[in-house]
Amino acid sequence: MNEMARTPKRPPQPAASATPAAAVVTEHVFAGLAASRGIVIGPVYLYRHDHISIDSEHIAAEDIELELSRFKAACERSEKELTKIASVTEQKIGTTYSAIFDAQIMMLHDRTLIDLITYRIRTELKGAGAVVDEEISKYQKLLLQSGEALFRERATDIADLKDRIIRNLRSEQLISHIDENCIVVANMLTPADVILFSRQSIKGCATDTGGVTSHAALICSSLNLPMVVGLHHISEQVKNGDQIIIDGYDGKVIINPQPETIEFYTRKQKRRAMSMSELGRLTSAETRTKCKHRIFLYSNIDFKEELASIEKFGSEGVGLFRSESLFISRGKPPSEQEQFDYYSELVRAIPARPLVVRLFDVGGDKMLFASYKEENPNLGWRGVRILIDVPEILESQLRAVFRAAALGGRLQIMLPMISSMEEVRAVKKVIAKVKTDLRKEKIAFGDAVPLGVMIEVPAAVEIIDDLTKELDFVSIGTNDLIQYTLAVDRNNGIVQSLYKKFHPAIVRMVSRVIKAAKRNSCRVSMCGEMASDPNALVLLLGLGLAEFSVVSSAIPEMKKMIAGIRLSDARKVAAKCLTLGTALEIEHTLKHARPQA
Ligand code: PEP
Ligand code: MG
Repeated sequence: MNEMARTPKRPPQPAASATPAAAVVTEHVFAGLAASRGIVIGPVYLYRHDHISIDSEHIAAEDIELELSRFKAACERSEKELTKIASVTEQKIGTTYSAIFDAQIMMLHDRTLIDLITYRIRTELKGAGAVVDEEISKYQKLLLQSGEALFRERATDIADLKDRIIRNLRSEQLISHIDENCIVVANMLTPADVILFSRQSIKGCATDTGGVTSHAALICSSLNLPMVVGLHHISEQVKNGDQIIIDGYDGKVIINPQPETIEFYTRKQKRRAMSMSELGRLTSAETRTKCKHRIFLYSNIDFKEELASIEKFGSEGVGLFRSESLFISRGKPPSEQEQFDYYSELVRAIPARPLVVRLFDVGGDKMLFASYKEENPNLGWRGVRILIDVPEILESQLRAVFRAAALGGRLQIMLPMISSMEEVRAVKKVIAKVKTDLRKEKIAFGDAVPLGVMIEVPAAVEIIDDLTKELDFVSIGTNDLIQYTLAVDRNNGIVQSLYKKFHPAIVRMVSRVIKAAKRNSCRVSMCGEMASDPNALVLLLGLGLAEFSVVSSAIPEMKKMIAGIRLSDARKVAAKCLTLGTALEIEHTLKHARPQA
């Protein structure tokens, strides 16, 4: 449990009693997890993502028409909201995610559903809220019972739509107008919430739940909105208008800060801003350690709109394109042609730089929607398991990637969730088939596309020698590797304090993977969030890692820090960490060895 969140402590500033008694507002510091970098100070906008209650069940016969017009108005209002959300999403991050909302709008026009709800209100004299709840829940249940993972995912979309209509029946705005420059404090936030709030020019977010690798957090990073998650009950301890500070570097949130605290963070904010402008000058320089060893920093991206950040922050290419963003937005696999168009755009935008397309990693917790309905979703039907079970999906994605590779560029294919050699060989077989088919069909394709895998399941670490002998590259996905090794759900706030990247098991596994890759002349990189942790840099360099894939905005700071590290020193620190028995000792050692940015 997060001790500080349960027993709020004060930071090292003068006691509250230093201010006149009448003006005392207690300052509380909460420790959570830094999910998106930056420091912001502003008033709280409190938002609760609650279960929706239903209005009274029965209506009088003379109120039927009134109830029907309420229902019609609620549908119209829902459509307006969804259209707005879809267009904001499209403006901010492209059509990839906006299609989710288009699908919800289509359902509002489903004649069978609307006619059935209207009929039941009329004949059963039931309130619209109750009928909407029952009918859409039935639909939702059917989808949840489906053997098809895709249908089950759509169920959550439908639940969102149901809540929206019911809220609108009660004339409640889901997100009412909020003042610009507010900081949103919520029990939880969905990606749609983040998008909508960002339109109101909010400055940052803090949530009770969530992990640093949730999609809402990744979207905040893409939008440069500081975010701290895993703050337990913070949403119950603030009210609208309270002053709040979000420190998205250290994962701290301060409610009702004293003037001294505000001054402290304003200075920290300025220091960061100043060093960012200085770091801007670094972007064009190659990344080298103090001893001039060349290091490569790539970007993790979810949308093509993020490609601009590659140039801006001096990235050397894309080390991880999470292609499932294309899949999730449609609720179904994108067609080969849609994918070909998309990958072609990526290739054309960065023709000279590496572009690693990770094949669809859908399933598990990787849905945009929090609730993927499987008993044990993270141990369920996910990533390469789905790809192997549904050859149409795998083949069309491979065809699209190989065709796009004909345009030049430096495309590479990476497989998610690999836990056995059988999986690698099964995919290789399909690759061979796809190439034969393309040849027969006389369709141009790029033949030499390097193949790699994510190392994110402990089994992959155990068989790392075999994998690195068979593949062109491996990339360590610490987000999942930590989750699966330590048996700690990456999105479950309650156990986040156990989600330790510096656990000796993780450090030793990372070391094993790097060593095996070198031994077998296989390229190795890291694309999990650990790669961008300033405390991990010395360790990773010392273990021999030379390729990092991170959120683009982290790159300038990393370049500067790397320039201050001598490999011989880093190796000593890494060797010491490999002997230490606890995460705390390793973290302590690394904090001391960390160079300043
Ligand atoms: C990882 O698991 O570390 C990773 C980079 O992949 P994702 O966060 O998309 O699961
Ligand atoms: Mg992963």
